[in-house]
Amino acid sequence: MAKKQFKAESKRLLDLMVNSIYTHKEIFLRELISNASDAIDKLYFRSLTDDSVNMKRDDFFIRILADKDTRTLTVSDNGCGMTPEELEANLGTIAKSGTRAFKAANELGDDIDIIGQFGVGFYSAFMVSSDVKVLSRAFGAEKGAVWESTGEDGYTIRECDKESVGTDVVLTLKADTDDENYSRFLDEYTIRELVKKYSDYIRFPIKMLVEKSRKKDGSDEYETYFEDDTLNSMIPLWRRNKSDITAEEYNGFYKDKFYDFEDPLLVIHTKAEGAVSYNALLFVPQRPPYDFYSKEFKRGLQLYSNGVMIMDKCEELLPDCFGFVRGLVDSADLSLNISREMLQHDRQLKVIASNIKKKIKAELEKLLADDREKYEKFFKAFGLPIKYGMYAGYGVDKDFLKDLVLFYSAKQSKLITLKEYVDAMEENQTDIYYACGDTIEKSLRLPQTELVRDKGYDILCMTDDVDEFVIKLLEGYEGKPFKSVAGSDLDIASEDEKKAVAEKQESSKAILDKLKDALDGKVKEVRLSSRLKTSPVCLTSDGVITVEMEKVLNAMPMENGARAERVLEINPSHPVFETISALDDDEKIKLYAKLLYNQALLIEGLPIDDPVEFSNNICLLMTK
Ligand code: ADP
Repeated sequence: MAKKQFKAESKRLLDLMVNSIYTHKEIFLRELISNASDAIDKLYFRSLTDDSVNMKRDDFFIRILADKDTRTLTVSDNGCGMTPEELEANLGTIAKSGTRAFKAANELGDDIDIIGQFGVGFYSAFMVSSDVKVLSRAFGAEKGAVWESTGEDGYTIRECDKESVGTDVVLTLKADTDDENYSRFLDEYTIRELVKKYSDYIRFPIKMLVEKSRKKDGSDEYETYFEDDTLNSMIPLWRRNKSDITAEEYNGFYKDKFYDFEDPLLVIHTKAEGAVSYNALLFVPQRPPYDFYSKEFKRGLQLYSNGVMIMDKCEELLPDCFGFVRGLVDSADLSLNISREMLQHDRQLKVIASNIKKKIKAELEKLLADDREKYEKFFKAFGLPIKYGMYAGYGVDKDFLKDLVLFYSAKQSKLITLKEYVDAMEENQTDIYYACGDTIEKSLRLPQTELVRDKGYDILCMTDDVDEFVIKLLEGYEGKPFKSVAGSDLDIASEDEKKAVAEKQESSKAILDKLKDALDGKVKEVRLSSRLKTSPVCLTSDGVITVEMEKVLNAMPMENGARAERVLEINPSHPVFETISALDDDEKIKLYAKLLYNQALLIEGLPIDDPVEFSNNICLLMTK
């Protein structure tokens, strides 16, 4: 019979498995048991709606058989089974989930260490086996088929007889070496231990025939006999008592189930009883999954009804702002045959979703209070979705989320909350100041920040595109309005300072008008500034759209033409202003106006309209 070759990617994973020096080879058993359990889930789920599946929940089981004579270990299930085509498709190529994790980890360039940290699946059998046979009969099929492989040199598939529906995975264990004792996987003790460690929460019984002894009837002699033992407790992790679960168990469960190779940042295990009762086990990952910001990403929690999974990604359970949370909800109050459309309107589900949303927020607030360092790590990873969550839906959740956001404080040189800003405000300070820029450094170098800092007021640096939009929606915090250092309403100078500038503005009206005309509609006004100390010019705006927002809006594909009402502000105490005031040559005024305006644009990080002209104009100045 012709041998078929594995697909390239599978072959690579397989090579890794066969030649693995990984010390936790034992995880192969967990992988095979999980596959068996998934296969049973599929058939059981079908039995709920399909009368031709004549099986009840109690009929399903997984069986482990260890045979020391043949050095084989068999993991059997009576789940959905596979047709020859499915054997080919599923075992000749890495299945989707495995591939995903494998690829992600591969990008980190750490081959060996990834093995066994998450579901690399079926191929892990080759870490311990010299030969793997998969005998399977699909539900509804008359005959079975057997897939067989000794590893790298490909596999064969042929028809065979199989009495019942389901799958037997038969491993012939490798010979023991100095470094590795493969025979131990045939010991009852080891098998029990591994099942307890990795597969205790599998919801179908994992049975094994074990040797026991008892007193013979009417005599003191003992006899041995064989009996089935169920090796797993079958209580899902999330139904167990929090106090009985170790951090390791939570972490292992998360990595195994959600294909991550890092421990979660935060575990939330919660239970509700009352009008709607449920268990929820939620995890915040260390970092966003690789596809988090792509259109393909689907948020959602697994939904279980009485321990049986009915939906993999139930979107309705998780609000967008917490879309990065992984986990599951198990409730006895949901109907099993519920369809997706019905789910959306399900009242129970809505109650659960709303509770979960509040719970996640409460746990994050707790983290913020108890472990600042960890919270900052969290915020660096997921601050953006939270801010988008505040902005989404016209800000319905803005108040709900506002205490979770952090901004960089210029004065404290660290991330702080809005509350912390307000609590640390100067006595005479009425507003919350913020500056926008691509980076913290850039935002703080804006000339508009000079006077604010001079007065001793803190400035929050906004470096994400969404920041200023969020701030505009919030308007203020605890009654203190937000003020952009670049806004026309900054109003920070003292009465005397303002008066002096106003007088000068009056007396300089003629030249300011000339400058404005020279700019030919590019600015709404040229005015003297009371906010600059050492810089000659800055660009600010009147109205709601700031220069920073204009930048962001125009970068969006759907928006165009959003324009801030730009105002060019000139520092009246800067020598440049004196020079300009003394000008009477209209050509020169035009030249200076353009130069000043372009300087202001550059400082803001905005493109200048005509870089060539700008460069020529500077040369003109230099050669004069
Ligand atoms: P994963 O389980 O992550 O999808 P695996 O490599 O472990 O990847 O398995 C590949 C596929 O083979 C599974 O998705 C499933 O469709 C099929 N499979 C594996 N074991 C069984 C089994 N015992 N019964 C039915 N199908 C199975």
